[in-house]
Amino acid sequence: MQNFQQYIDGAFDDGASRFDSLDPATGSAWAEMPAASVADVDRAVDAADRAFLSPEWALMTATARGKLLLRLADLIAENAPRLAELETRDTGKIIRETSAQIAYVAEYYRYYAGLADKIEGAHLPIDKPDMEVWLRREPIGVVAAVVPWNSQLFLSAVKIGPALAAGCTVVLKASEEGPAPLLEFARIFDQAGFPKGVLNVLTGGAEVGAALSSHAKVAHVAFTGGPETARHILRNSAENLASTSLELGGKSPFIVFDDADLESAVNAQVSGVFAATGQSCVSGSRLVVHAKIKDAFLARLKEKAEAVVIGEPDDMATEVGPLCTKRQRDTAVAVIERSVAQGAKLVTGGQALDREGFYFPPTILDCDGAQDAECLSHEFFGPVLSVVSFETEAEAVAIANDTEFGLASGVFTQNLTRAHRMIRAIRAGIVWVNTYRAVSPIAPFGGHGLSGHGREGGIEAALDYTKVKAVWLRTADTPIPDPFVMR
Ligand code: NAD
Repeated sequence: MQNFQQYIDGAFDDGASRFDSLDPATGSAWAEMPAASVADVDRAVDAADRAFLSPEWALMTATARGKLLLRLADLIAENAPRLAELETRDTGKIIRETSAQIAYVAEYYRYYAGLADKIEGAHLPIDKPDMEVWLRREPIGVVAAVVPWNSQLFLSAVKIGPALAAGCTVVLKASEEGPAPLLEFARIFDQAGFPKGVLNVLTGGAEVGAALSSHAKVAHVAFTGGPETARHILRNSAENLASTSLELGGKSPFIVFDDADLESAVNAQVSGVFAATGQSCVSGSRLVVHAKIKDAFLARLKEKAEAVVIGEPDDMATEVGPLCTKRQRDTAVAVIERSVAQGAKLVTGGQALDREGFYFPPTILDCDGAQDAECLSHEFFGPVLSVVSFETEAEAVAIANDTEFGLASGVFTQNLTRAHRMIRAIRAGIVWVNTYRAVSPIAPFGGHGLSGHGREGGIEAALDYTKVKAVWLRTADTPIPDPFVMR
């Protein structure tokens, strides 16, 4: 058994209690994790608040903050193999993906390192001749970052990077499912040279998340997770009136027209829904395909889905590993059973695999004639694709937008004018045309509706961690004339 510790005020400790973390590939405990108490949350927020006000951090130049973030990026790159191995072990995310993703996480910190001294205020051409008025962009304060277990180094980088670039301090709560990579990240962060308390890392469940997101000293809650938890976060923020950014789930349409490059579209659909074993918020989990090519497209998809290499997550050859938790696997089984009873037809997969660990195979459900099947609206967070066909462009748009979510979408067509019409018509925060699942630190990421609000990535994300202060300076040398006239 390996042991992990929490990180508060620049020191490591075992937490208020300990719990076992399971290896999803075997279902057995492999490491002991620290569970924070409400008192630990208080300590962590107090440390972040002290750091926020401390001269070491508050008076540090933005350029110096950027240099610390660059040092952190280098340390992440150096430690990428260990971080990848831990994320794979603790969450079942396959090593192929964790290795590539963690190397790219360093680029997010580099991007925000570069942005730190480019977050600018403004000077206003004010309508009074004896006044100078300008806006200072100041850090918003202590940030509570609450993240899920999937892609957690990435999902925390898009919060910690812009928050620290802006001059905030952070208390990060890792999910109670698979927190090892973030607890290890705390050790790496500790070597980068930030003042103590600038980042604190805890783990634990709903009680810890609730104490953190409702804490009186927290100014902003940056949350990634499911819509139900997001409602708790919003209720919690009624206590401290903190601002929020919510990155929630999706049921993203993947639309293929009959003029699409089919080989590209099939490959993008396979990775769009089965990569990360389907545990991706942007999973292209609803295939909306033109009726004319549906059979041919499904036949190629089925062939590729059945050829996917299912295996141990730490094997570089593996393409689909186990789901992170037993609960998720059981939910997939139950929703598929109900969807089949509602008329969806299984094209492939659909049954949990008969082996140890939380394995579930790539699954395709044909939902033509079963438009109300639960699989079309339920976010599986598993490798499950639901298929519906269309005849006209208007029908494709209607099906694509028939969801309470609005995170991502894909459109495959060779027709340029149609692509532009679809870009305008689709209600989602991201439209990928003739590609899918591309991300970059430079591009904002987020959704609307049940997919949340606020954006992560890009310059906009950093502005979320700032507040504007209007400064008025009277330039006249003469005394203020009349105390009772509004100026
Ligand atoms: P979850 O909502 O169950 O948990 C997310 C985090 O919230 C965890 O750290 C959890 O401990 C914490 N939490 C739980 N109850 C809380 C409460 N009452 N108050 C405060 N915090 C609380 O999500 P999950 O199952 O871990 O992750 C899967 C979800 O995350 C999916 O819906 C997925 O789409 C979403 N997700 C979204 C994105 C995105 O960027 N849009 C990315 C990845 C995952």
